[in-house]
Amino acid sequence: MEERYDLAIIGAGPAGIATAIEAYALGMSNILILEKDENHNATIRKFYKDNKRVDKDWKGQKVELDGTIYFMDGTKESTLDFFDQLLDHESLELRTHTEVQKIVKKEEGFEIFIAGGSIFATHVVVTIGRMGKPNKPDYKIPPSIKSQIHFTLDGCGAGEKIMVVGGGDSAIEYAVDLCDKNEVSICYRRGTFRRANPTNQGDIEKAVESGCIRPLLNTEITELESENGKVKVNFTDGSSELFDRLVYAIGGTTPSGFLSGSGIREEDGKPVHDENYQTNVNGLFVAGDITQESGGSIALGLNHGYAIAQYIKALG
Ligand SMILES: Cc1cc2nc3c(=O)[nH]c(=O)nc-3n(C[C@H](O)[C@H](O)[C@H](O)COP(=O)(O)OP(=O)(O)OC[C@H]3O[C@@H](n4cnc5c(N)ncnc54)[C@H](O)[C@@H]3O)c2cc1C
Repeated sequence: MEERYDLAIIGAGPAGIATAIEAYALGMSNILILEKDENHNATIRKFYKDNKRVDKDWKGQKVELDGTIYFMDGTKESTLDFFDQLLDHESLELRTHTEVQKIVKKEEGFEIFIAGGSIFATHVVVTIGRMGKPNKPDYKIPPSIKSQIHFTLDGCGAGEKIMVVGGGDSAIEYAVDLCDKNEVSICYRRGTFRRANPTNQGDIEKAVESGCIRPLLNTEITELESENGKVKVNFTDGSSELFDRLVYAIGGTTPSGFLSGSGIREEDGKPVHDENYQTNVNGLFVAGDITQESGGSIALGLNHGYAIAQYIKALG
């Protein structure tokens, strides 16, 4: 039997869940959310540190919420609870452990390819984010030190010498969290942390003043090597230093392979879409971080979901 839905959403992050909730609120049904991970919101689960403060106006982007979802500042845990409640309340169909490989336009709607089969849907919204592939440095990571190079805080313990690479909100939050129990440096190619939100700027200022974090500003790395089981970092000024671990917090990448495999055109590192978030493929939409060059926010994703649901509903 062919599985057919009116609306299929690929990725159960904030934008995907919002699209489903808003579509449901507008009277649509027969909606399916497909998520490759074991639970919804893999980005929040994996990349947010425990008890992280979650800002509605992330990176200082002030967003007025348009839809029916009332999202507020909170913590990692309260935000995940919030999305649990949204999904439970509407009894939305969320299929986890299901990675979508590509979407192919058919005469009527789309065929969505997953391992071992396919699902059909009239409209499809792609909300797979950018953190499936976190940005990696363009210099080589020697295999012998791979286990000491991180893109989240998983595997970071106590009593170690750690360098965080990056200067945005995520990098600062990682560094401030780690410095309670470790000797922490933060390596940033710019001269100030002014791109971060005011709270994080205040936190890093305090941590630097108290000697808890050593800032390496206007500093770039040229190469990593392995030396005596440590990570040897070579900097552009010719100096080098040994660390137990490095944590990179330098954003995510556009899933270009997925987009091109589904016929979605990309321009300037983003999928092409119109004001309703419809791509060059009629009936195929994109929402959330995937539409942003350097990362969006939860609130922005919620608004994209609302706009798409309204547009699809109006199509009748
Ligand atoms: C460390 C960090 C801290 C942050 N702090 C904040 C904050 O305080 N406030 C804030 O508003 N924003 C914050 N953000 C940004 C926020 O997390 C993102 O803007 C938001 O998660 C984007 O939502 P999304 O739904 O577009 O994508 P995501 O949340 O990335 O969700 C995408 C989902 O799609 C799934 N997926 C991917 N590929 C496939 C596939 N092929 N098939 C099926 N499923 C797939 C993924 O597993 C994931 O669950 C932070 C980001 C990071 C990295």
